[in-house]
Amino acid sequence: MTDATVPHPWQAAAEALLLVAVVLAGVLAVAVVFGLPGQRAATLFCVNLCAVLAIQVFSGTSGVVSFGHTAFMLVGAYVSAWVTMPATMLGRSLPELPGWMGGYELPGSLGLLLAAVVGAALALGSGLAIARLSGASGAIATLGFLIIVYTVMAAAQHLTGGNRAFWGIPRTTDLWIAAAAAAGFLLVARLFRDGRTGLMLRAARDNEPAARALGIDPGRMRLRAWVLSGALAAMAGALYGHMLGAFTPRDFYFDLVFGLVAMMIVGGMGTVTGAVGGTALVMALQEGLQRLEGGVTLGPVSLPALFGLPTVGVSLAMLAVLLFRPAGLFGRRELPFPLPRRRAPPPPAPVSGAGGARLVIDRLGKQFAGLVALQDVSATIPAGRITGLIGPNGAGKSTLVNAVTGLGAATSGRITMGSSDLTHATPERVARAGIARSFQNIRLFGGLSVEENVAVPALARGLPAAVARATAARELAHVGLASDAARPAAALAYGARRRLEIARALAAAPVFLLLDEPAAGMNPEETADLATRLRDLPADRGIGIVLIDHDLGFVMGLCNHVIVLNRGQLIAEGTPAEVQGHPGVIEAYLGTRASGVARATMTEAEHSIATGEMQHG
Ligand code: ADP
Ligand code: MG
Repeated sequence: MTDATVPHPWQAAAEALLLVAVVLAGVLAVAVVFGLPGQRAATLFCVNLCAVLAIQVFSGTSGVVSFGHTAFMLVGAYVSAWVTMPATMLGRSLPELPGWMGGYELPGSLGLLLAAVVGAALALGSGLAIARLSGASGAIATLGFLIIVYTVMAAAQHLTGGNRAFWGIPRTTDLWIAAAAAAGFLLVARLFRDGRTGLMLRAARDNEPAARALGIDPGRMRLRAWVLSGALAAMAGALYGHMLGAFTPRDFYFDLVFGLVAMMIVGGMGTVTGAVGGTALVMALQEGLQRLEGGVTLGPVSLPALFGLPTVGVSLAMLAVLLFRPAGLFGRRELPFPLPRRRAPPPPAPVSGAGGARLVIDRLGKQFAGLVALQDVSATIPAGRITGLIGPNGAGKSTLVNAVTGLGAATSGRITMGSSDLTHATPERVARAGIARSFQNIRLFGGLSVEENVAVPALARGLPAAVARATAARELAHVGLASDAARPAAALAYGARRRLEIARALAAAPVFLLLDEPAAGMNPEETADLATRLRDLPADRGIGIVLIDHDLGFVMGLCNHVIVLNRGQLIAEGTPAEVQGHPGVIEAYLGTRASGVARATMTEAEHSIATGEMQHG
């Protein structure tokens, strides 16, 4: 395909550098224009930005809002302070600190490095539990983590001084160091977001079942993000400590984490650009409200002192953003840098090693609390051809696909592919064994671009980034979506979404492809177009396709072998002609016709098979 293009390989890096340039220019301007107070504000902005970016690395990619990252900051601040202070000073400030723990007078860079190492270790330990959780439970777990770390550190008075300020820390975080750190954090956060782990984690964030069905282990991706962000947050904490010069554990508790999370959410936690914008806006708001806090006189009007105004104001701002612009003020898009797209390099040849693989379903049963959805279903599905799977609504077709792909294990029976037993395999394992699927209710990664949706499975099976992009471009061209590659997936029309899901499944290079009603909701032209795109796949790539659809004309036209389910049981199997003439099949469809509710949902094709007018094949 000549119109297939891929993003420039330096796209993310160029955008990251642009953001660095914008931030440095802004910081320098404030420092130059406002003199010493400006320098202080700019330094604080850079340190805050580092902390917000550390949280964003985890929360932005995983979707789990973290209230725990100031725990890493706390630990990082103390570790770096201990090792960079001279022994005499440390002895006066924290007399009970064991001698081996500090007083080495190390340079600040080594202090940062040690903070990062300790932060990463703490993240690894805590992440083994926390990274298993997603959504609200994940957020609560991070809060628990903060409370535990804070309580332990505040209680360990010999290490931290408890409520008494720990003072005498070298104030090495000046504007230059803070700005350099912010630049580094920006690059790391942005390259992580668009890199392999970041992309796979954002896919899992948008749709966990779909990501798992492509072989992604969301918990493992979250753990990687948590460890990186823990190390970054510990460094941000060290920078913060060396800016303050004196602190207690309380300086790293709710007030701090609340402010940082507000910055991330106001700007938009899904993007690095949002972290920058949110940090700037919330700091400006805090600064403005602090001036009003003590009361002001404006001509004839005099406002009374309003204690706590900055905190209340920031909370209200966050609430307003959550209500009216949930993706944040800076939206879902990163600051763009227009590098030209490249023509897609020749993609790797499609894997067609399916050979004689067979998917064997053996006396499969599935019950939902008393309801028998599948009963003793046995079928052998060969690679290299399209097998139709039909049956009235509620027959158990989707349940069968789910059982095979590890979403809702079978209650009895066995599923094997070649020598691997997949009966109780996780979706990730099924995917890695070579089975891909589409979903009856479309499950795309809505926050990713069309091409990213398709690159994800290619990355998940370990292809290098450039090859994954080329693979995505080829599969998009195959389903006719090449010109939509750079659009957000959420912007696609219904029929195009179904085709995108198929391209995504194909990019997983499956041996078997299970399509659950891929033509549902398509008009006749779209259905015919889809048929031509599916027809040659088995011969070209050796893939075995299982095709479920309500449009029997579509199924019968593509398959020479059809399986019929009814009420959880396999009632017929054979060529379209054999199946159409089968009395059980006719009765199954007539049966649904007799029920008024079911008749309302019957398609024309079902109607025609029920009345014996089928002319397909
Ligand atoms: P089909 O895809 O053939 O239309 P399904 O496999 O979706 O049918 O459903 C088969 C039967 O199992 C239906 O009676 C349905 O109501 C039931 N069922 C499916 N999923 C669940 C579930 N998660 N919990 C309870 N019942 C379910
Ligand atoms: Mg179904």
